[in-house]
Amino acid sequence: MSCLLLLAVPAGGAPAVGSPVLPPELRSLWPDGVVVRRGARSTVAGHRTPPSVLDEVARHADTAAQRVSGVLGTSVRPLVVVPASAREAADLAGVARLDGLAAVADGGRVIVVPEAYAMLNLTGKSVVLTHELTHVAAGTDGVPPWLREGFADYVGYRDAGLPVPVAAAELAAEVRAGRLQKALPGPEAFAVDGRDPGRLARAYQEAWLACRFLADRFGERTLVRLYRDARTAGVDRALAPLGLSVATLTARWRAYVRHQFA
Ligand SMILES: [Zn+2]
Repeated sequence: MSCLLLLAVPAGGAPAVGSPVLPPELRSLWPDGVVVRRGARSTVAGHRTPPSVLDEVARHADTAAQRVSGVLGTSVRPLVVVPASAREAADLAGVARLDGLAAVADGGRVIVVPEAYAMLNLTGKSVVLTHELTHVAAGTDGVPPWLREGFADYVGYRDAGLPVPVAAAELAAEVRAGRLQKALPGPEAFAVDGRDPGRLARAYQEAWLACRFLADRFGERTLVRLYRDARTAGVDRALAPLGLSVATLTARWRAYVRHQFA
């Protein structure tokens, strides 16, 4: 029988081995041991990851929870899993690969892709965790990719303090070179196959600016309502009260994007 090591460690406190307060799904994550750290709102479970790294993730997850709660108006208590490698992260998420992603939302939890996450600066880490936590808290079923990813980036970048041309550098370069997609990004633009990382980056930025346009023009509460309506009634019916169709939104989004980089 393999040995299961469980350490529930309040940030800065003493370890409590085998704490009964651990969620059951954390106890069986890895047979050779799970280290759990807790932030003010978050729980972080790591595999072969230094506790200091897990504490940093917990701090960012706490900030992310605050930001997501602020937009959605609901209480958010993140569960973040930090595997030992991208391979382990992909296995946990049940996908073939996670190239280019620093974290993914998987059911009710956020899975960090440790190699890519470690390359981000502090702002990037907060943005990524806020983005994924938005997926977890708001749900994604029935929402088209541009709205799903754009909404998560809207919440992710909302308080990050980054100018649009900096946060959307790849799209800025494309637009300044006279190119801009004629349609909002579809599923193929978000394919994580490692073939065209530039296109993948621009797809997120295009989606982000579509949601940012909606928030700028109609208000953040309207954007949140539109997202919820799109989940239950579909995006066409969610846009209708704003006097928009996907086609008219696309035209206004293109003008908004051009204006951002003029
Ligand atoms: Zn996403």
